[in-house]
Amino acid sequence: MSRAGVGRVALVTDTALTPDQIQQIRDRVAELMPQVRADLEELVRIPSVSATSFDQAQVARSAEAVAELLRREGLEVDIVVEGGRPAVIGHLDGPEGAPTVTLYAHHDVQPPGDDADWDTPPFEPTERDGRLYGRGAADDKAGVMAHVAALRTHAGNLPVGVTVFVEGEEEFGSASLPTILEKHGHRLAADAIVIADSGNWAIGEPALTTTLRGGVRAVVRVETLDHSVHSGMFGGAAPDAVTAMIRLLASLHDDEGNVAVQGLDEGTAADLDYDEARFREESGLLDGVELIGSGSILTRLWNKPSITTIGLDVTSVEKASNTLAARAAAKVSMRLAPTQDPQAAFELLRTHLLEHAPWGARVTVDLEEHGSGFAADADGPVCDEARASFADAWGTEPVDMGVGGSIPFISDFVARFPEASIIVTGVEDPDTRAHGANESLHLAEFEKVCVAEAVFLARLGALPRG
Ligand SMILES: [Zn+2]
Repeated sequence: MSRAGVGRVALVTDTALTPDQIQQIRDRVAELMPQVRADLEELVRIPSVSATSFDQAQVARSAEAVAELLRREGLEVDIVVEGGRPAVIGHLDGPEGAPTVTLYAHHDVQPPGDDADWDTPPFEPTERDGRLYGRGAADDKAGVMAHVAALRTHAGNLPVGVTVFVEGEEEFGSASLPTILEKHGHRLAADAIVIADSGNWAIGEPALTTTLRGGVRAVVRVETLDHSVHSGMFGGAAPDAVTAMIRLLASLHDDEGNVAVQGLDEGTAADLDYDEARFREESGLLDGVELIGSGSILTRLWNKPSITTIGLDVTSVEKASNTLAARAAAKVSMRLAPTQDPQAAFELLRTHLLEHAPWGARVTVDLEEHGSGFAADADGPVCDEARASFADAWGTEPVDMGVGGSIPFISDFVARFPEASIIVTGVEDPDTRAHGANESLHLAEFEKVCVAEAVFLARLGALPRG
């Protein structure tokens, strides 16, 4: 499939790896895949749901299973718990003077949801049409196994020093990750950090995830009256808080649907094929309902801010009476351009809301939660080698992809390891349904992910040392 030129990057050709060496890695991974697949299935059978209402003994079991897989590859392994779920840290030295790489994945999973929505039981891995179905089959136990596969490919002859870090609560907010980084961060420091928790652009089309949006959640309160009053006696002269709130929320977008808060960062997405028909299909947009905002659809989804009202405290329709409401509250979620400082974005939102208070209504805005986006410094030798590894594995050049959502913990890594090149990869494809019912892994793509990672380690090991 042809793509426009933007988003593609010229490949490194002066690598120390020969085509023969790359072919040997492909062959070796192919030999290893049956066992990699079997080990993946064992991990999927452990229902390691990190959400509190699930049995946390299973998360401990999956940490132990991951630790054992790493020990078998010769790594020195610890299971660390810092007030949250168990994480696994393993390390194996490389040749003297070789770069070091930290490989991240997570072994916990999302709750399976309603079993009835699954065609086969969520924790019984099942193959259909080249895909392996099961909760965590992709997100992110296949990420764990891609790391193990890369280590196995180089068993006895690891080209770089490798640290593997497999978190146990990514799906539950990574609450203890800052403490883990504080206490054990020195063990995770590396020249490159591979975060295998994203995906590729399409089947057969690899991608490097170079941007993620950040986010802010805020609570807006509007008050207009000391107490609720009769709408017949006072309506027409006194404003009610709900109408004032609606006008206030309406001020957050212009007529086209662009965010109207001034001063927020905006960027532009790579020029990839993604048409309106596909967006309509994937989003379930009703016939006749227009898209909002301006710029390419991917720019709107990946590189521009968006604002959504996600909650509203007003009298329900059922309990309504002829009254002017004295107060109303709303929860607003903002997605932010990857480069945006979330605290600054909140201040801009707050200023906008205070300045647009209709009819002198009293408005207060409180920050509930914020998280940074991610904009990779996508140049430099490590990124070049990552792209070249994708090309070696897929036979086609990778694209730079954004993600409209967030992986908040990445900013913790960026802050803790400012010198490291952070490479965001993953096993997902557009049909993976991570977090949903019938989550699945495309097995042929998974093999390519494993090849790419094994080649990447070899390419880094072959870089001239300086
Ligand atoms: Zn994940």
